[in-house]
Amino acid sequence: MMNISSMRPPLPDRYSGNFHSKYNLDSSVHSVRSVMSLNNPPATLEGYGENVFRGAIAAPYLMNHGLHPDVLETPAWCVNGNADKVAAAVLDWARDHGASVYTHWFQPLGGSGVRHGMSAGVQIAMLKFQKDGSPAWDFTGKNLLFGETDGSSYLNGGLRATHTAGGYLTIDPTSPIFLRDDTIFIPACLTSWDGFALDEKTPVLKAADALSNEGTRLLRLLGYQTERVIANIGLEQELFLVPRDAYLKRPDLQMTGRTVIGKSAPRGQELSDHYMAPPSLATPAMTAMKEFQQECYAMGIPMKTRHREVAPNQYEFAPMFGSMTTQIDQNLMAMQMLDEVASLHGLACLLQEKPFNGVNGSGKHNNWSLGTLDGVNLLNVSQVAAATGNHNIFPVIMAAILKAVAENGDLMRMAVATPGNDFRLGACEAPPAIISTHLGEDMTKYLTEYMAGENKPYIPHTTVLDQGCSVLPSITVPAEDRNRTSPFPYGGHRFEFRAVGSSQNVSMVNVVLASIVAKSCKEFAEAIEAGATPREVATKALKESFKVVFNGNGYDAANQDMLTKRGLWRIDSGVDAIIRLKHAKNISLFDEVKVFKKGECEARANALLTHYTGVVEMEALCMIDMINQHVIPACKNAKIGDVKALENAVTALKTALAGIHHASDEESKAHLARKLRLETMVEMRTLCDEAEAVCPADRWTLATYKDLLFLDVTSKQTFSRGRGSNNHAAHDD
Ligand code: ADP
Ligand code: MG
Repeated sequence: MMNISSMRPPLPDRYSGNFHSKYNLDSSVHSVRSVMSLNNPPATLEGYGENVFRGAIAAPYLMNHGLHPDVLETPAWCVNGNADKVAAAVLDWARDHGASVYTHWFQPLGGSGVRHGMSAGVQIAMLKFQKDGSPAWDFTGKNLLFGETDGSSYLNGGLRATHTAGGYLTIDPTSPIFLRDDTIFIPACLTSWDGFALDEKTPVLKAADALSNEGTRLLRLLGYQTERVIANIGLEQELFLVPRDAYLKRPDLQMTGRTVIGKSAPRGQELSDHYMAPPSLATPAMTAMKEFQQECYAMGIPMKTRHREVAPNQYEFAPMFGSMTTQIDQNLMAMQMLDEVASLHGLACLLQEKPFNGVNGSGKHNNWSLGTLDGVNLLNVSQVAAATGNHNIFPVIMAAILKAVAENGDLMRMAVATPGNDFRLGACEAPPAIISTHLGEDMTKYLTEYMAGENKPYIPHTTVLDQGCSVLPSITVPAEDRNRTSPFPYGGHRFEFRAVGSSQNVSMVNVVLASIVAKSCKEFAEAIEAGATPREVATKALKESFKVVFNGNGYDAANQDMLTKRGLWRIDSGVDAIIRLKHAKNISLFDEVKVFKKGECEARANALLTHYTGVVEMEALCMIDMINQHVIPACKNAKIGDVKALENAVTALKTALAGIHHASDEESKAHLARKLRLETMVEMRTLCDEAEAVCPADRWTLATYKDLLFLDVTSKQTFSRGRGSNNHAAHDD
């Protein structure tokens, strides 16, 4: 294998130095972690980002081909004749790391019926085969920039006929190329032959442009020149880790990602004893979490926080936030790695929103802020004031966001309308399907006074808590508490879209947020260009939108009624929410900001409806199999349960499925599917769960909630030491 280090030209200063000195990290942190984690290797720092072709990793390879090490920082290289040289550098890097394959890594619509928007790619050898049959390396600029594939089998919502199958792939130069195993992954967009986006990524890039164009235009009118406005996001990923042997005895988890039947265990989350409990070395989960974090680091994914969540066997990871395009790619890769790492440790990772009845489901909070390329957070009042010397820019930005939410809560609801979220939204752990925003009393008061003509800066207040104990220092806390019942609370410097589902590719979520805010910025800019003052424009928008501000308890039924009467967007059914994408208001919004054409909105809505119905069909068929193959035989065997009622349940499920098949269009099918899932299947489930409750344990042939949810007490091992050693009992200390 070629060793590139001998050929490397010297690095410019900012790329030299080892990782620790470059990032100013204290290496003592490392040794403390090693002690704390016994012999399990901690997430190392040295290899951070080593599998990503950017920065110090890419620099020597790029320079070796006469390119500037910063060449990848803007997309110009794709069109200025440098693509062949970049491809040659990528090939060198690939060969140095034993890779010989590349793939354009894309995000088809509904790429899987189970995991929403899973990624895809065809793997192609970086080789050509010569006349004598011998292979030679071959990877050109054209190979790097473009690909062509048969895209016919992906959902397209009717955007094209089945026989027009071409799928055209184009590199997304804003997201870095990375390496896994023997393959170079090139993040890419998928377009049909007639130029329609067939994927989740293309609209994200278009929405990013819209947000930047309209955001910079508005800021310019407010006296703030900035090159680009971007959305920054940080995704808190929740998930379950369950024992793989139990998972393998659950056809529903295997086929659909959630349990369609299952009696609750005697213990649930009554005491919240799982929440942030110490990770235990006596279960494989801790080792898997550490290994996952390490994999993330190699991929340059800045995974920062990990902890146990509220439901038994539920966990959460959160990275350091970054630009929305990169974070979305990284989250998709992280979900895949979670699956893979879990399986290496005798576990199965469940990413579905509601895998278990009776305990919390999983979300993916989409923390969201606006920023400039030079790092100013536009939702941080002091940063904006410091960058501009003007404290009146911040309230205009807030007004634009509130207007976007007030007018387009239906689109926000649409963006989180996954099948799994239908069981989650509005339940005890997730915000309701009414789109309001919590601003906190401080911010609410400030904006109210601004509307009344006050001209003072917003100063977030803090309170000093005296802990009443001589050894404890007092703490300074924000004057505001958190509000976890709000779907879109402002948390000081960022909003947090809490209603997002755990299994989602969050592209559509961020397309919506960027597009609706772009639209508000555009309208503000037009009004100011027509002669209004920024304060007039912002005040009018605030007055019209302030109804969405709600700082109270969103779980309270009386409050929900009050908000509904106030005229907030409330869409309880996920299917109704999806259909909003075809509404004239929304078609015109996406058209205006140049993100989707009319046909694309309609096609996406249809694809989402097909996806919804497909998921329900799989779940219902799975339930039929489980009743026939497990529940009824167990009942007969143990001479318990109401076998006749169970047989009738199977008939009812089959009839409902036939009804769906005969429905005339995607909308009616999805409505029927939702009814089947939330009504008929819930009713049939009760029969199964009642049988399970009285069936002798040795006659029940499915893994139970007890088997699935309590690694701490069901794990066979006594202790785990060292990576990969935990699938068996370790007594070797
Ligand atoms: P918590 O659960 O306490 O809200 P976490 O650390 O689990 O906190 O998650 C918070 C997420 O919000 C992280 O991904 C973090 O990087 C992200 N975040 C913080 N500030 C911003 C910001 N200004 N813009 C976008 N995301 C942010
Ligand atoms: Mg969190």
